[in-house]
Amino acid sequence: MDEKLSFFKDGLRLDGRLPDELRPIKVEVGVLARADGSCYMEMGENKVIAAVYGPREVHPRHLQEVTRAIVRYRYNMASFSVEERKRPGPDRRSYEVSKVSREALEPVILTSYFPRSVVDVFVEVLQADAGTRTAGINAASVALADAGIPMRSLISSCAAGKVDGEIVLDPMKLEDNFGEADVPIAMNPSGEITLLQMDGRLSKEELQRALELAKAGCQQIYEIQRKVLIDRYSHMDDMGSCDEVVAEEEI
Ligand code: UDP
Repeated sequence: MDEKLSFFKDGLRLDGRLPDELRPIKVEVGVLARADGSCYMEMGENKVIAAVYGPREVHPRHLQEVTRAIVRYRYNMASFSVEERKRPGPDRRSYEVSKVSREALEPVILTSYFPRSVVDVFVEVLQADAGTRTAGINAASVALADAGIPMRSLISSCAAGKVDGEIVLDPMKLEDNFGEADVPIAMNPSGEITLLQMDGRLSKEELQRALELAKAGCQQIYEIQRKVLIDRYSHMDDMGSCDEVVAEEEI
């Protein structure tokens, strides 16, 4: 079999997408009654839920910062979220993903408004198909807004990758596993990047193309995040109460 042709058929990818196409996205905001803000998000076969608590008192107290709130972010993969059962609990990968995800969101959170407090973000991956860190960041960004945490803007996130020598947007697991590179990014609506990682090898031109694609993907995700929040809160104004709003977008 010619390996080089196996990921594309008639210019389309194995799931029927064009090279510059995102997977379908579904977002629900305010899904958890006991969180201050929450969001459930599907990006293709990825299913994640984000819960935000705070600003609230910091425990342990020695973590307090006198001039600003601290942000904590815990990314966790459920053991049933992947093909081969994942051992429960934190591991090196989840620490790394938690750290880069926190750093992706922290620049837009107005932490100086809440000295000595903490904003806690929990992201649970229920089903994984490559791109869980980016799905988690998108859900967390919406959940932060839902919690009323003051922010400069939303953050949107997606990856581009290289498969069979071609740069593609939003690689799914098969493409990620057998692909040559994976470049997850996160950015604000002005295109300022707050997360940039690269797994694999790309030429300078390929990296430029990957960034171009990923930025265009983030813009589309931003519009969806914005819409779901506007729908939820304009609905509140009209009705005086807040029912769950579901925004389903096929891109
Ligand atoms: N994965 C897995 N088991 C693990 C970690 C990851 O099966 O313990 C899969 C999962 O589908 C994940 C994908 O590998 O989405 C890619 O993982 P990566 O570390 O690149 O992070 P992601 O793309 O999910 O942000």
